[in-house]
Amino acid sequence: MKVADPLPPGSRVGILGGGQLARMLSLAAARLGIDCHIYAPEAHSPAFAVSAARTIAAYDDFAALEGFARAVDVVTYEFENVPGDTAGFLDRFVPVAPGVAALKTAQDRIAEKTFIDGLGIPVAPFAEVSDTATLERALSRIGTPAVLKTRRFGYDGKGQTKIHPGADPDAAFAEIGRQPAILEGFVAFEKEISVIAARSWSGEVAVYDVPENHHEHHILKTSTVPASIPADVAEKARGFGGRIIAALDYVGVIGVEMFVAGGDVVVNEIAPRVHNSGHWTMDACHVSQFEQHIRAICGWPLGAPDRHSDVVMTNLLGDEIGRWCELAAEPAVHIHLYGKAEARRGRKMGHFNRLTPRQP
Ligand code: AMP
Repeated sequence: MKVADPLPPGSRVGILGGGQLARMLSLAAARLGIDCHIYAPEAHSPAFAVSAARTIAAYDDFAALEGFARAVDVVTYEFENVPGDTAGFLDRFVPVAPGVAALKTAQDRIAEKTFIDGLGIPVAPFAEVSDTATLERALSRIGTPAVLKTRRFGYDGKGQTKIHPGADPDAAFAEIGRQPAILEGFVAFEKEISVIAARSWSGEVAVYDVPENHHEHHILKTSTVPASIPADVAEKARGFGGRIIAALDYVGVIGVEMFVAGGDVVVNEIAPRVHNSGHWTMDACHVSQFEQHIRAICGWPLGAPDRHSDVVMTNLLGDEIGRWCELAAEPAVHIHLYGKAEARRGRKMGHFNRLTPRQP
């Protein structure tokens, strides 16, 4: 189903998932007079405190899903591991954005890489792996070092292992739980960047500036905008983002993670949702990725993605949340906390954007 006419203020957006991304979507929607209804299995979800309505139920509780679908005007999600059956079921009652086809492509690393490669956009060499024998064949074609990743459900470096020259393939396959997998050639990248783009139901596309991303222990730590890359490389990355979102017939905000290697841009993966490396847009742009997503899925005109400031976004992980008071005292810092009670190690508790005047 599609949203034909712009949903007026007072409409309801349903969000699958109740974490910080849903929370920030809900806050952005509220500014536009749109209410959010969160659907999540966890009784203490960060998004509940700032949303108009909630359903606490499992993602395969079809009676609860139907009640949720009937109570909202459009459904979206804050994480990519929504079961395909769930999204497909909801789509019988209410528009779902991004759509089920885009979701399925992004959920499976083989489908994702095949799709991007088919657009003529560079990806790491890759091969499908189903057992140790196919892994050995893939290694003899792709070589080492290489990265073995589960086809599905990987995030923040989980479900993947690097294979060094001479390593035992069977041990590597055991390490990722002997699950259906993908072998990728290791990209000796100079930088990690990403592109945050949005597309409306009518096909209008808006692409933000390119952040440079630094990870610690596989978790995003900072996004710096502008990235220190040549302008033509940034334009190429933005162009790839725009082509991917259009070819997916996608509605909403997408995050496309990329490597810069040898001055070229190689696409790593697609996140079919608002993205942590787009949090800087909340304070350095007039229209944040969260407002942009709500605009896109509700059939509103997209906002200009223009950036008015230079910015570094820093995630507050685990007990770094303890810096809140010191950070709140800095005039150029905009702080966003997610209302999570327990500061477990590596857990995303909040982030802050430090702005500086935009350099020409
Ligand atoms: P992913 O789960 O695909 O986002 O990978 C997590 C991180 O692992 C990336 O941000 C990279 O730092 C690294 N990585 C993933 N795939 C590759 C690759 N093919 N070559 C080099 N590094 C990789």
